[in-house]
Amino acid sequence: MDSVINYYDSEQRKPAYQWGKLFLDNGAFTARMKGVSLNKERVIEVQESIDPDRTIPLDYPFTTGQTPRQMERSWAKTKDNVTYWQTSTRLRRKLVPALHAWNKKSLASNIRWLQRNADSDFLALGSIVGPSFGKFRGFFGDRQPSTELIDMLALAISSISKLSDFKVHLMGFGSSPLTLHLGYYLGAQSTDSAGYRRKAAFGKIVLPGKGERHVGADSMTGRDFGKNAMSIREGNPRREEDLEMLNRCACPICSTSADVLWVDWRARAIHNEFVMKEEVNIAHRFLNLGRSTYEKYLDQVVYSRSSLRYLWEYAKLRRNYLRISDALWEAGV
Ligand SMILES: [Zn+2]
Repeated sequence: MDSVINYYDSEQRKPAYQWGKLFLDNGAFTARMKGVSLNKERVIEVQESIDPDRTIPLDYPFTTGQTPRQMERSWAKTKDNVTYWQTSTRLRRKLVPALHAWNKKSLASNIRWLQRNADSDFLALGSIVGPSFGKFRGFFGDRQPSTELIDMLALAISSISKLSDFKVHLMGFGSSPLTLHLGYYLGAQSTDSAGYRRKAAFGKIVLPGKGERHVGADSMTGRDFGKNAMSIREGNPRREEDLEMLNRCACPICSTSADVLWVDWRARAIHNEFVMKEEVNIAHRFLNLGRSTYEKYLDQVVYSRSSLRYLWEYAKLRRNYLRISDALWEAGV
């Protein structure tokens, strides 16, 4: 996962690292947050020169305070770009168009538009916003999980599977095992995030199947929590268990010298990336065994003592409720 924004103003034309599969974000959300607008041709230039496995045509995410009319106009520009990227760039087979919607009606009609016009097997969830958008921060970026977010996701994903044959790519959900599994459970087939790098820089490591823990110096503020950082919250009962978990981690860092995690953010980035890839494999493995097996695993392992347990309970409720209401709908009740 990388973003056009990292190369947009730069002489550097390619990532300085090797990649297996690269999902290149178009940078639209970051630009929107900074209040700058991106030049279409420049975005295409960067995308074509990097030549990733998948990338998103330039889209126009919503910002809080926009009226439905303004959002509709943004969507019209997003649609134009889907067509333009498909016809006028060398990225054709790699495109993952973004879906935006400002109410239930637009959600349905925008999915239908993409189904008719987008030449892709995946779509990315962009801004899917409801009436409470004033408070809502949107789908891209660093997502604060909330019950509203679960509602939106459940609605968007079930509408997509009802009205189209797209698979769903969930942006920015893949930086913690806790959000990642929520996304997969709700029906996304792919997630990604560059969040694990930022976490590493801020001194955090991701624990397999769990949340994150603070272990190292925060490279932004220079605060160093030292070797006892895992017990930073006084009397953290999970400390032993956490260390035990790191002992079992098979990443290139933990399997040689896990101590580096406390002092080097790059080591943490390698560990975090490895853990998140493993989590994706776990999600796919369990989904292949059936959703109820996956549900049981999440219930008993991932969310058993998690701070996000309430969201997990909500997601289950929401999914089961949707299933019932869908069945009633189809039966014409
Ligand atoms: Zn590790």
